[in-house]
Amino acid sequence: MVKSSGKAEVKNKFKFLGINPPKKTCNDEYCPWHGKITVRGRFFKGIVVSDKMEKTVTVVIERFVKIPKYERYMKKRTKIHAHNPPCINAKEGDLVLVGETRKISKTKSFVVLTILKKKEK
Ligand SMILES: [Zn+2]
Repeated sequence: MVKSSGKAEVKNKFKFLGINPPKKTCNDEYCPWHGKITVRGRFFKGIVVSDKMEKTVTVVIERFVKIPKYERYMKKRTKIHAHNPPCINAKEGDLVLVGETRKISKTKSFVVLTILKKKEK
């Protein structure tokens, strides 16, 4: 048995994505770093367009869809709700990485893993 020392060491569960754990800690049940939720499925990069909800952000994901008839690409956007744990605390305008989880609420099944780029002021 391994005795845990006072300082809880956070394992980098998402090392394969090339990201580091947040410096802060939290007690959030749905935090991908400190909680019990399992991240599996798809990962997306997107921009936070709203942070007005409690522990939830709206993320817009842009993708290109090829239209064979015109041999050109069209931009399509998808809006998703993602859980925003207190240790990450993403704000409007940030570029974030989200990962798929089980359903957290009626419209939420993604969680913010890290902030890739802070909003430029
Ligand atoms: Zn946390």
